[in-house]
Amino acid sequence: MSAPTLIDGKKTAESVLAECEAEIADLKSKGVTPGLAVVLVGADPASTFYVRSKSKMCEKLGIHSVKLELPAETTQDELLKVIDDLNNDPAVHGILVQSPPPAHIDEAAIIAEIDPAKDVDGFHPVNVAKLALEDASGFVPCTPAGCQRLLTEYGIETEGANVVVLGRSMIVGKPMALLMMAKGKGANSTVTVAHSRTKDLEAVTREADILIAAIGKPEFVKAGGVKDGAVVIDVGINRVDDASQKKGYRIVGDVAFDEVAPKCKAITPVPGGVGPMTIAMLMANTVKACKQITGN
Ligand code: NDP
Repeated sequence: MSAPTLIDGKKTAESVLAECEAEIADLKSKGVTPGLAVVLVGADPASTFYVRSKSKMCEKLGIHSVKLELPAETTQDELLKVIDDLNNDPAVHGILVQSPPPAHIDEAAIIAEIDPAKDVDGFHPVNVAKLALEDASGFVPCTPAGCQRLLTEYGIETEGANVVVLGRSMIVGKPMALLMMAKGKGANSTVTVAHSRTKDLEAVTREADILIAAIGKPEFVKAGGVKDGAVVIDVGINRVDDASQKKGYRIVGDVAFDEVAPKCKAITPVPGGVGPMTIAMLMANTVKACKQITGN
């Protein structure tokens, strides 16, 4: 088999960001600046890194960035008040609360408090419903939206394709399945969702023309679970110890890349695949929220 196409998430993210920049310039010419507020409770190092990356990207694109780093002991009521203030702030068009919050916070109640028009993560029940209803005014969660964009960018035929989504989280697996089964371009697929209770998992994933792995288990998908000529999208971001690296670890996906890649028509690397798409789609959702709220 010929070498697989490496699906380049960095390059595709750059195209998405270039589209955002053009839309931001247009909005600014009308006196409107998109604004994104990112709220972090506590100082989890990975969450702090993600929040700072999101703020930096906003600044790079000229999006007004509000970064609220709150102490770990912030109460539910205090956090609800922060969300209310952001809901009412006309300079803020997108709001996200970095997950996971500390254990004493009821995350579902916090998400439900966000104005659905500003819910750029797409986790509010109204936006979950809009995705199921195929209502394009809603916000699609950034990671699955990014995976779909990678498929369309690389001209992968999705119509009638057997898509297997491995994982059923509300952040990745479930919205991914809804996106791929929807009517329209980059979708119209026959979707199977597999999870920890699926029987004979490898037999299920081997049926996939397009396999989207989002389970959070390092290099879990082996060559035996992948059909020859499949397209593999690896959402996983897992740290594994590696003494040869300066940091003492390296990042791997949910797919055993070295053994799976030779069987594939196309595959995303980790890092450099889905990861860069998530933040780019967040910027795109923020621009969309701004346009919808301001009527531009
Ligand atoms: P969750 O832990 O919320 O969900 C994992 C899913 O995988 C669950 O549905 C679970 O099944 C299923 N699962 C777990 N173990 C197995 C198994 N052995 N066999 C079959 N299914 C299994 O994870 P997320 O969806 O939040 O994230 C998944 C991965 O994607 C992680 O590595 C995460 O870091 C990464 N990620 C990457 C992003 C990016 O920007 N690239 C963004 C978000 C996540 P069950 O429901 O039955 O428990």
